[in-house]
Amino acid sequence: CGIVGYVGSQSALDVVMAGLKRLEYRGYDSAGVAVLADGGLAAAKRAGKLVNLEKELVHRPLPAGGTGIGHTRWATHGGPTDANAHPHLDNAGRVAVVHNGIIENFALLRAELAGRGHELGSETDTEVVAHLLAEEFSACADLAEAMRLVCRRLEGAFTLVAVHADEPDVVVGARRNSPLVVGVGEGEAFLASDVAAFIAHTRSAIELGQDQVVELRRDGVRVTGFDGAPADVRSYHVDWDASA
Ligand code: GLU
Repeated sequence: CGIVGYVGSQSALDVVMAGLKRLEYRGYDSAGVAVLADGGLAAAKRAGKLVNLEKELVHRPLPAGGTGIGHTRWATHGGPTDANAHPHLDNAGRVAVVHNGIIENFALLRAELAGRGHELGSETDTEVVAHLLAEEFSACADLAEAMRLVCRRLEGAFTLVAVHADEPDVVVGARRNSPLVVGVGEGEAFLASDVAAFIAHTRSAIELGQDQVVELRRDGVRVTGFDGAPADVRSYHVDWDASA
């Protein structure tokens, strides 16, 4: 339902949690976050309101890092449980993905992955993406390229945002028939399903086009089509009042 991603020198967890709060008005049944820190990936997720996730983070704090993603879920496939909440991770726990929308061909992809030895631990359509990204990344060592390859195999409507522990300063996003906006700051960058999530930090935004992938780094963003062709990027100024 709501998605936030961040890379920069602030605490990614703080930026992402504040962004998720700004998106609460959309309604949701679960929430979760993942941060990259100390060469690894740490995640927390809870069914229910953001306050449940906040309690979990007090009880079991995540290490501090400058790269992170977060999600508020409106369940379509699998009930609103902790296990079905996003982010979803691959079996090695190196990649995390959050998703808005529906992957129509997930059952086929799930069966394929199970046949290759992956263990899927949720009932969501989303989880296949984490496993597919891990497979593609192990071959190309480039998360944006892995995302392009995976997106070409997906059917349906989706906004996807992912991180990989082996690319600690990168957040990758993709969209088809579902919104995703990039925020460009000074030495930091944001991704969200709605500019409300990052407007406190930057007013410089880029609307991702249909079937595009964005690679976010501290020093800039790179946008391509699912086919890898570089895309024209035009940033615009968000001028509506954030307090409205
Ligand atoms: N289809 C996904 C799920 O049920 C994503 C739902 C959403 O857009 O929040 O987990």
